[in-house]
Amino acid sequence: MDTEKKQSRWTDEELAASVDTYLKILALEEDGQTVDKPLEQRILQEGALINRTTKAVDFRLQNLSFLFVELGLKPNSYPLMANIGSGVAARVEIILASKGVIDLDDYLPTADEETLNRRTEKLRGKKLLGVPEGIEKPKKVTVTTTSYARSPRIKAWILDNAKGICEGCDQPGPFEQADGTRFLEVHHVKHLANRGSDRRSNAVALCPNCHKRCHHANDKDEFTATLYQKVERLKREQLD
Ligand SMILES: [Zn+2]
Ligand SMILES: [Zn+2]
Repeated sequence: MDTEKKQSRWTDEELAASVDTYLKILALEEDGQTVDKPLEQRILQEGALINRTTKAVDFRLQNLSFLFVELGLKPNSYPLMANIGSGVAARVEIILASKGVIDLDDYLPTADEETLNRRTEKLRGKKLLGVPEGIEKPKKVTVTTTSYARSPRIKAWILDNAKGICEGCDQPGPFEQADGTRFLEVHHVKHLANRGSDRRSNAVALCPNCHKRCHHANDKDEFTATLYQKVERLKREQLD
């Protein structure tokens, strides 16, 4: 009897069989075929999901639709059901990765900014579908980062010298701060990470737009070259 079947933890085999059926239905639908879903579910129940109720099998296939949308993949016609536990979702993601449906690494939450940006760029390149729910309570992690001990005297001089005007675009900083000065950031033209110095000859005061441009724009090298030209105190430092 269906009702006597126990609600035990789903095994990886059960989840993998569900994913197989889900993908099979998806492929048939993509191919324009009409799928007899109750029949597919019965086949599942006669095989790997012999210990599961009809309702449980139906729910599982529905929450695979939810997970597919969360991953940005096109779901099959099963309605979205949201109550997939994060533990099950993580296990299904591993199964999807093993079947080559997703690259697991792309989706892993990370506290490392560079890794986050790399994964973001890769996912953006995939033109994912749908609107993701995300993480309600992101895990707090302690990370070791490398920073440089910088001179407050130099930072103060660079900012005082700029008088609130960006040395990149010559516009005032975007907003006034509590102390009445315009907000600007100090950028090291030769990055500290590339062994640039923390001296007046390597530091500029920039608005956030110009600052981000130095780091991320497709014309960052050309833009940096204009800074060397227009800000007289700047000196190019040795490449390593
Ligand atoms: Zn600017
Ligand atoms: Zn910078």
